[in-house]
Amino acid sequence: MSVDEDPAPPPSAPPLRVAVVGAGPAGIYAAEALTRQDDVPVAVDLVDRLPTPFGLVRHGIAPDHPKMRAIRDTLHRALDHPSVRFVGNVEVGRDLSCSDLHEAVDAVIYTYGAALDRQLAIPGEELPGSLAATELVAWYTGHPDADRSLVEAALARARSVVVVGVGNVALDVARVLARTAAELEPTDMPQHVLDVLAAAPVEEVAVLGRRGPAQATFTTQELRELDELAGATVLVDPADLELDAAAEERAAADRVVSRNLAVLREWAQHAPQPGRIPLRLRFFTRPVRLLGEDRVTGVEVERTVVDAHGRASGTGETSVLPADLVVRSVGYRGSGLPQLPLDERSGTVPNELGRVLREGRPAPGEYVAGWIKRGPTGVVGTNKHDARETVAALLADVAAGVVRPGGGGVDDLVSGLRAHGADPVLLEDWRAIDAAEVALGATRGRARTTLHEWDALLAAVREAAARVTAER
Ligand code: NAP
Repeated sequence: MSVDEDPAPPPSAPPLRVAVVGAGPAGIYAAEALTRQDDVPVAVDLVDRLPTPFGLVRHGIAPDHPKMRAIRDTLHRALDHPSVRFVGNVEVGRDLSCSDLHEAVDAVIYTYGAALDRQLAIPGEELPGSLAATELVAWYTGHPDADRSLVEAALARARSVVVVGVGNVALDVARVLARTAAELEPTDMPQHVLDVLAAAPVEEVAVLGRRGPAQATFTTQELRELDELAGATVLVDPADLELDAAAEERAAADRVVSRNLAVLREWAQHAPQPGRIPLRLRFFTRPVRLLGEDRVTGVEVERTVVDAHGRASGTGETSVLPADLVVRSVGYRGSGLPQLPLDERSGTVPNELGRVLREGRPAPGEYVAGWIKRGPTGVVGTNKHDARETVAALLADVAAGVVRPGGGGVDDLVSGLRAHGADPVLLEDWRAIDAAEVALGATRGRARTTLHEWDALLAAVREAAARVTAER
């Protein structure tokens, strides 16, 4: 019988058991795509290392970003589906291996993202006062693994800030550092983050693009937000906006580029204003070395030219920018999991339409979605299409009999984890954390304050469980 002639499974058929590794947007959209189809009944375990869902929506998107709340609420609807089980506080590679996981379910979709930072590979990069954007972002979003002392020591002396890179993360970082304390006050940043940012002596911020404005990777909406700051003025050198023929062509062909240029041209009219932080966007500028003996004091930069193919090269013309804090925001990098193949060059798992490739051939029952599939590109919504493509591949494999519902192990994943000493955090436990964050926020009139320590997160779970037991 051909695949098309396969009868629909009877209602009593065992569900397709799928483990999704990573409860960020890609994982949640994959779970949603699985539950939104009627051909195959599913039971989805959404596994995450953290006791909290949402991945980079919680610990990536800057907390001052207005879209944040709405995105979380949308993602939560998928978590609430009866066929989806959130299984937090479980690390694949520590609490169970990839092969354990494969034995427990019929298919695994890896959506664990790209958590590592990329380096500049220039002298002085390791000096105190030089941070990766990933370190700063983890800290200001209250990630429980953030290195508080590293970031707070750097911020304590940050008068002149240089952010390297002109992607959306660089804009987030520049915006957060240039915000006034009053602007950040209503956000869900932990109190110590608000206090340190309020005390940081930031006087100027420069954002460096090694290529021209036509090659910048930020998006227009995110760019515009820079000009809505209460205490900072965005400055752009009009000379950086003089386009050569190739850049003109690029602007004509790409609406985002032409819109970005229109915004930048408006800002090129701005003049520095007394009492306001100058936030300079400098293009055709690449860092050559970070200067300083025992901490960063400046950045030596070189002027670049960009050729017709969009490639930058140095002109030899150098200058020094003062800097007490340098944040490199030059992209993320995916890492491997034991037993899962990784293409080191791209930092992605080799795949075809989401099917994991082992030695060039699809590995039955193994899939990827999100940044670990395609690399660290796109906005949150990009993951929806990406996850649907992967789920379509999985469902096609089910239809073709390559993956069989009920073909995985018989043990329940959570019972198995508990039997091996792990302490999974389920949806009701996450709700307890959520409620504790809302309650903490309310003590200062905020909608929420992020719990930033493992102990506090897990204590919220334990306390809620103890209350339920006491009420019985
Ligand atoms: P990105 O968009 O890839 O930007 C990286 C930047 O670093 C580019 O400007 C790149 O310049 C520069 N760069 C790379 N290597 C460099 C080097 N050695 N020296 C100097 N500059 C260097 O990455 P991202 O900002 O980390 O963002 C990751 C993804 O998340 C993006 O898709 C982004 O849109 C998304 N995101 C979205 C939002 C939002 O929607 N609000 C917020 C944050 C992030 P070249 O182009 O010259 O390589």
